[in-house]
Amino acid sequence: MGKNLTTRSEDYSKWYNELVVKADLAENSGVRGCMVIKPYGYAIWEKMQAGLDKMFKETGHENAYFPLFIPKSYLSKEASHVDGFAKECAVVTHYRLKNAEDGSGIIVDPDAKLEEELIVRPTSETIIWDTYRKWIQSYRDLPLLINQWANVVRWEMRTRLFLRTAEFLWQEGHTAHATEQEAIDEAIQMMNVYAEFAEEHMAVPVIKGVKTESERFAGAVETYCIEALMQDGKALQAGTSHFLGQNFAKAFDVKFASKEGNKEFVWATSWGVSTRLMGALIMTHSDDNGLVLPPKLAPIQVVIVPIYKGLEQLAGISEKVDPLVKELKSKGISVKYDDRDTQKPGFKFNEYELKGVPVRLAIGQRDLANGTYEVARRDTLEKTTVPADEVVAKIEFLLEDIQKTIYKKAFDYRNEHITEVDTYEEFKQVLETKGGFVSAHWDGSAETEERIKEETKATIRCIPLHVEDEEGTCILTGKPSSKKVLFAKAY
Ligand code: AMP
Repeated sequence: MGKNLTTRSEDYSKWYNELVVKADLAENSGVRGCMVIKPYGYAIWEKMQAGLDKMFKETGHENAYFPLFIPKSYLSKEASHVDGFAKECAVVTHYRLKNAEDGSGIIVDPDAKLEEELIVRPTSETIIWDTYRKWIQSYRDLPLLINQWANVVRWEMRTRLFLRTAEFLWQEGHTAHATEQEAIDEAIQMMNVYAEFAEEHMAVPVIKGVKTESERFAGAVETYCIEALMQDGKALQAGTSHFLGQNFAKAFDVKFASKEGNKEFVWATSWGVSTRLMGALIMTHSDDNGLVLPPKLAPIQVVIVPIYKGLEQLAGISEKVDPLVKELKSKGISVKYDDRDTQKPGFKFNEYELKGVPVRLAIGQRDLANGTYEVARRDTLEKTTVPADEVVAKIEFLLEDIQKTIYKKAFDYRNEHITEVDTYEEFKQVLETKGGFVSAHWDGSAETEERIKEETKATIRCIPLHVEDEEGTCILTGKPSSKKVLFAKAY
């Protein structure tokens, strides 16, 4: 099997689309903007879910499930929320089809009109806060720390596999608190959980920050985010955590009796990451030969390919490999022994390279005679010959080393692509030639932000939390600014 991937330098976007399909991660479906996630892609998503779910539970959250449909009236209760989502809502108006009387086929039955139209959830704040009103009476009911794994629908106009789809899979946390500070702490905590997951599991370095007012979630007081940088120099919002103030409590009349006996509105957060993380993972590490997966998320961590002619040779190899497979499995390493005789070793090598399997072992007659394996690592494509009695230790070393090495590579690339500028000329030049994040002073106004976006396509990705205050002047207007913010062209 030839890989025949478009290279990244030829056409990054084409490379990405081809890779997603050829590596068997996902494909487009008959519904515009909706994708079929294939078993290999879904196995990676399941590993992401497992890692995140564990972290959510360790921080005190429980899972629950709320309905897919939201009555239209709920969505309109929080004014800025509905404004933000109205343009991308799928609406259910009828509940039945029938045969057309003129025999032209199936039509929507006009007699089956819903009394109240339903929105397919674009996010679940409204239906959840309508429920929380019934669940929260007193300070004893707080905090309420809930997460749900679900699908949501946002009628996006420009879609791309994983990065932006009309239907996507995600988790959404929705928490309720007695005090403002507790809710802010929760929103920050979940941003930190996302950052830790991105860096430790996905090996994707991220910048933590807050969004400007125009990029903020509709209905939030503050949106915390993690921003990653892809290999083409474009940024990607990888996760968001919102401090919602009392906006939803007020809209849905959710009050609690405080310790002092007063009735007070509840404070809220919501936070989410989606299958977009798959896009971040692919775009951060993969190369012109295919996927490069961090060992912690690879569905297959080690593949063993026998090189043989005839069943007798295969039997000799299997005798050696079977106990190795057992030992690796007992150590919690996911290993596949690919002894299919329907494909040649070269085909298999290509396939596992394309699919990003971190470690590949090959064993042929000479290895058998010498008591060795050929060990190849996917990230650097380096190959070494390793004595059989050292191969387990070598694999354990490589799985850790690949995780660290690809993180370091992405981290260095990201850091080399944060450019500080002081003038608008420099700003435009960096965006055109080098890309990446551009750190610049901004006067804090939405108008300036919008003008820069129109003129350069760059948006403010975040006001980074790690950057110190520094007096300066806005690159566009020359007005005073107290801190540099990060701009970038983004997905
Ligand atoms: P939000 O509710 O808008 O804060 O988004 C929550 C998470 O979902 C963020 O991490 C977004 O990057 C991600 N997201 C938003 N829209 C899409 C989409 N159309 N496809 C995939 N992920 C999305």
